[in-house]
Amino acid sequence: MSVGVEALFTSALGLVAPWEVAKVDLDTAKRRIDFEVRCNAKLLSCPHCNTPAQRVHDRLRRSWRHLDFFQFEAWLHADVPRVSCTGCGKTTQVGVPWAREGSGFTALFEALALSLCRELPVRQAAALLRCADKPLWRRIEYYVNQARALDDMSAVRTVGIDETSLRRGQHYITVVHDLDAKRLLFACEGRDHQTVIDFVDDLKAHGGDPAAVRHVCQDMSAAYTKGVGLALPDAAISYDRFHVIKLAIEAMDEVRRTEWREQPQAVTTALGSKDRKVLKGLMWGMRKNPSGWSTTQLNAMHWLQHSTLKAARAWRLKMALREVYAAAIKHNDVQRAESDLRAWLSWARRSRLAPFKKLAKTLTDHLAGVVRGMVDNRSNAFVEAMNGLLQQAKRAARGFRTAGNFIAIAYLRMSKLTHLPAHPFATAAAK
Ligand SMILES: [Zn+2]
Repeated sequence: MSVGVEALFTSALGLVAPWEVAKVDLDTAKRRIDFEVRCNAKLLSCPHCNTPAQRVHDRLRRSWRHLDFFQFEAWLHADVPRVSCTGCGKTTQVGVPWAREGSGFTALFEALALSLCRELPVRQAAALLRCADKPLWRRIEYYVNQARALDDMSAVRTVGIDETSLRRGQHYITVVHDLDAKRLLFACEGRDHQTVIDFVDDLKAHGGDPAAVRHVCQDMSAAYTKGVGLALPDAAISYDRFHVIKLAIEAMDEVRRTEWREQPQAVTTALGSKDRKVLKGLMWGMRKNPSGWSTTQLNAMHWLQHSTLKAARAWRLKMALREVYAAAIKHNDVQRAESDLRAWLSWARRSRLAPFKKLAKTLTDHLAGVVRGMVDNRSNAFVEAMNGLLQQAKRAARGFRTAGNFIAIAYLRMSKLTHLPAHPFATAAAK
């Protein structure tokens, strides 16, 4: 079979009449291949009003970056016709079958770029594709918006509301997950009650029903509680393990820090060392599970457990709360979980450790929601997994970490959007 190289590339690029490859120019020194694509039609339908057989008014020169051809950077070029229409009187440029209007990339190149950005930091994807980061961010936003517009949220019943920050402790973003479908539904700047109302508006715009949302899993922020009360009044709130344990760790850290500041002598005597490393080992050892202790941490924790320090009591309280949660999941019994929790609360209240007395009050004030969260392992595990993915999304936006970029990449990676372009490298069909 002998076929001209132009005809070969015409079919490899998937072009059909009136489009065809007119010329192929391979420059091995410059490592690039250029395809001149031609539109052979003298008459075309008007792209604006579809009136057939209209005259070509003029042609405009355009170029598109395409998937590499072997090791060569591939470019398409065409003089794209503009049709002057007798039907509507307008002069309109015809669309090309290989690219979106206005894009300097072919659709396949964009699909590849998007696939890479799901796996790699955007800056790395851009380097691999040898293009700038900025056009990739624009594409991510474009395709995510398009795919989200078609997203169906009618099956949403259980949501998790959480906050994350772009930079440590500032610039907050509220994220809402579907805890059944395990995907990100919504993200926006801020963490006030309005964010929940905005989510519910978005839910409705995507075919979701606020009255069908039966269950919300969240932290103890008053703002989210207010938002849920206003916009999701039928939903029962539960507070998940992750956030409750986080509060216990914060209370424990506060006890340790205060004691070290006010009674450094007692601390160094108990630990038998003034070494900064030992104190650091203590801090991390107290936060971690014993199975993860390093040798330094193990030593520090040994002395802590044999001391009468307040930090030791704080640590025992934290560990006991973990036990209460582990037992609740094991037995999956609401009444038992509540009575275990009440026993712990009574211990915390009598502990003479101010941060734990305060925590006991917070948990008591939210008791029903805390107990609901104790036996709901589904959301507990998921909230932690999602946090990991959010951290990855933040790393993916390194160097371009605006709220808009972060939200776009989070949707791309975590929303399980079904209307995104497919990866261009499909497996070759079997003969
Ligand atoms: Zn027309």
